[in-house]
Parts: sequence; C-alpha cells; structure tokens
Amino acid sequence: MIKPMSNKIKKLKDKLNKTIWTDNIEKLKSHLYEQRGNIQGKSSLLMLPKNTADVVKIVKFCNKNKISIVPQGGRTGLCGGTVPNKNGREVLLSTEKMDKIIEVSKDGFYMIVQAGCPLLLIKKIAFENNRFFPLSLPSESSCTIGGNISTNAGGAAVLKYGMTKELVEGIEVVLPNGEIINSIKNIEKDNRGFDPKYLHIGSEGTLGIITKVKIRLFPEIKKKTMAIVATDTINNLINFLKIIKNDCYEYFSSFEINTNIGLNLINKFYNDIPIPFDNQYNWYAIVELSSYDNVNLEKKISDIIGKSIKNKIIFDAIIPQNLKQYNNIWKTRELLSEAQKLNGKSIKHDISIPIEKIPLFIKKARKFLTDFRKNNILIFGHLAEGNLHYNVSKPKTMSMLVFNKLHKKVNSNIFKLVHDLGGSFSAEHGIGLIKKKEFKKYTSKEEFIIKYNLKKLLDPNNIMNPGKIFN
Ligand SMILES: Cc1cc2nc3c(=O)[nH]c(=O)nc-3n(C[C@H](O)[C@H](O)[C@H](O)COP(=O)(O)OP(=O)(O)OC[C@H]3O[C@@H](n4cnc5c(N)ncnc54)[C@H](O)[C@@H]3O)c2cc1C
Repeated sequence: MIKPMSNKIKKLKDKLNKTIWTDNIEKLKSHLYEQRGNIQGKSSLLMLPKNTADVVKIVKFCNKNKISIVPQGGRTGLCGGTVPNKNGREVLLSTEKMDKIIEVSKDGFYMIVQAGCPLLLIKKIAFENNRFFPLSLPSESSCTIGGNISTNAGGAAVLKYGMTKELVEGIEVVLPNGEIINSIKNIEKDNRGFDPKYLHIGSEGTLGIITKVKIRLFPEIKKKTMAIVATDTINNLINFLKIIKNDCYEYFSSFEINTNIGLNLINKFYNDIPIPFDNQYNWYAIVELSSYDNVNLEKKISDIIGKSIKNKIIFDAIIPQNLKQYNNIWKTRELLSEAQKLNGKSIKHDISIPIEKIPLFIKKARKFLTDFRKNNILIFGHLAEGNLHYNVSKPKTMSMLVFNKLHKKVNSNIFKLVHDLGGSFSAEHGIGLIKKKEFKKYTSKEEFIIKYNLKKLLDPNNIMNPGKIFN
C-alpha cells in the first residue's frame, strides 16, 4: 500500500533533529514563491541542514520514500527553480545554515566554503585576504555560491573572468541516492577521464545538492577605473566595444549597456541618484578597466574616449572623480531590474545573440511589438558577451487580460528570432520552471536526449527538483 505523503513527512521529521527543519507557516511563506512574485507553490516542510551529513540523511530518506526535494539557495533565481509544485507534496531544502567559510588559502589562491555561503561574504573574505573573487551580480547580497554554481551565473565580470563554471575548482555533491561525489582536491591537474563537477554546474538542483565548493581566487585589484559613455545607436556602442577590446584587452573587465528608457526608470524610482548627461542620448555603456598592478588606467580610458569622440563613435563621457560618483553610476545599471519591477509587469528575456547581429535583432524584434510603444521596451545587459535583457513592459492603458494574452506571442516571436540568428533563449538565468518548453524546442534532439538520460540515470526516482528543466 502507498503511504500517504503526510505520514512520510511526519516520519522524516521524527528522524531528523528538530534544529534542522521547520514547519512554521510564517517561516515557510517566503520560501514558496519566486522573488519576482510571479510563480507560487505549496509545501509544509522546510529543511535547514547544517552540514553534508545532515543533507545525506535527508536525501537518503527522501529517496527511499520517494519524497521530492526542492533545493534552495538565496532564492534570487529568475526562472522559478526554487518554487515547489502546487500539490504541497514536495519538501524544501534550504542551504541557509550551510554558510561557513571552511578554508582560505592565500598562497593557493583558493577558498573552500559551504554551498549556502552568500556571494557577498565570499567577496568580502577574499578582499580581507588581499584576494579577489570576481563573480559580480546585482543579487550578490542574497544569492549563494551553491545557487551561483547550480545556475552557472554570469553577471558583470564574465568578460574578463568567464561564467561561474570558470571559477569553480571542485565541488562536493550529495547525489539523489544520498551518496557523496567529491571533486575538491589539492591537485591542479587530474585527467582521469571527464570531470564530474561539470555535470552539476548549471543543473539547477536536478542532479543533487551541492554541499561544498572550492573556488578560484585572483590577486587583489590594485587599480580600477570606469566611465559611462553616451552615443546615438547600438552600432556605435558595438564599434566602441571593438576599440576597447583592441586597445585595452588585458584590463577590460566590464561593458554594461543601458538606454534612455532605462535611465528614465532610474530617475523615476531613485531620485537620489544623479542621472548622467541629463539623459539626453539614446544609448549608454558603463566601461570598467581593472588591473592587478598600479597601471595608469585613467590615461588608457581617457585616450580611448578621446579617440572615440573624435571619430564620432561616442558623443560624451563621464569619468567619476570619487567613490560616490563611481557607485552612483554603477547603480544606474544595477538597479534597473528593481526599477522595472516597481514600474509594473513586464515580459522578460535573457537572451544572447552573436554581437554583430544585435542591431538586426533589435530592428526585427521591434516589428513584432506593434502593441507596444518604444518606451515599453527596455534593453540593457552585458553587450560584450552578446547578452541582452530585452524586456517589454505592460503599457499603462493595456489591461492585464490583453497583456497576458500577448505574453505568449511575444515570447515565441522573440525566441524564434533569437534562434534564427544563432543565439540562445537563456543566456545566464537557466531554464527552471518557466523555460522548459523552449529548452525542448530549441535544443538539438541529440543534446536533449543525453541530458534527459543523465537525469534518469542519476535520479531514477525523480526526487531532485522534479518538473524543473524537464517535464
Ligand atoms: C536583481 C537581480 C539581478 C540578477 N542579476 C543576475 C546576473 O547579472 N547574472 C545572472 O546570471 N543572474 C542574475 N540574477 C539571478 C540570480 O541571482 C542567479 O541565478 C544566482 O546565481 C542564484 O543564486 P541563489 O543562491 O539565489 O539560487 P536560488 O535562486 O536559490 O536557486 C537557483 C537554482 O539552483 C538550485 N540550487 C540552489 N542551491 C543549490 C545547491 N546548493 N545545490 C543544488 N541546487 C541548488 C535551485 O533549486 C534552483 O533551481 C539576478 C537576480 C536578481 C534578483
């Protein structure tokens, strides 16, 4: 006879120490929805393991009793990967109590931490040790390194340091059957066949629980300089990008774009942030150079700006003169997602396109969006990697009913166009719950089958984040 789920969950609670779970409704509430509030599920139990042994105990019991687990880090993911399903039969496993720094090796240029360690804490500890951990996300005060690895997060430093997968030296994972696989080693080289850690990077909690992580550290940044530049077209921004890459490759660490529509939103919701150039241009880019030495980066950036203004590639530039100005300029980019959320509903796309095809994408995409005005379209993101956040806001006069109807049509047109141009419908946020259909549609049959079979092999009972990535 199949035991009712409530009996199984009661048994699980009885088996575990009371300090590592809660069924308190108030505490559970905030764990049941995606942070943008668009998707919500149900669950009656939140597990809060403190270490790998706790995770093993939980996973073994759940696997034996076929209880599904939804892993949660900082819950800043944007694809619904941490949201339980609606039937309330899944249990949540948060890594929030697994937040310890285990080892910092200054000479070895690495750090070992528990998977629930917040990204911001890792960056702070690296800094205190004269080291630098480059992963840089606007969500860094809340997201965890385990979540970053599970989503293979990107962010503003990918240009110089790559996606999260480039920053991970080893991980410890509790597999869906409760066994541990550990690729954290003291050696640099190990070519005994393929490296199992790559299976778990970007697997969004579907192949196990990441419990410990060894990450790469870099020398501390001795010199950093930035500028915000303004121009009239996306083509000019792309030309400016080419110039910096050519003249300054070694130091080039960020290139984040924004538009007058984005600056208008910042102005509307954060009136304490000065708006560069009084927002009189169409396109903007924040450019950052950084160095491990005391190089004269100010001269380098000034030379590039001077040359580009002379050649009419950019029209204006501001180089911040103090930390406050520097932080305020960065805020005009980092607060965009939040500003758009405050402004109302929008249809979001996290896409990547070959850089030279971006102007064509923008032109063609605009043609689909006949129901929207120019200022409903917010384009920002990481141009140097061809990664755009292409978001379409609900016009104030449009009803929710009409907007929801258009949502599907807009998505399918945009994703098809991205695919036709050789791009990806998910550049850095993953698949989760909301992009499963596109994952199946725009992944080759061969690749899909390999990924699907790996999931079945590692998790035959489908207990680990079921319904995410795959149906
Ligand atoms: C304002 C804002 C800005 C953002 N900017 C960026 C950006 O620039 N670039 C970018 O890439 N992302 C960005 N994100 C998305 C998000 O911050 C990243 O995806 C981040 O890596 C998620 O980390 P997390 O700890 O919050 O993971 P969660 O959201 O908790 O989880 C994400 C996925 O990983 C799984 N998971 C979490 N922890 C574990 C674990 N230990 N073991 C196994 N599975 C686990 C979950 O089940 C889920 O599927 C942004 C989000 C916000 C809110």
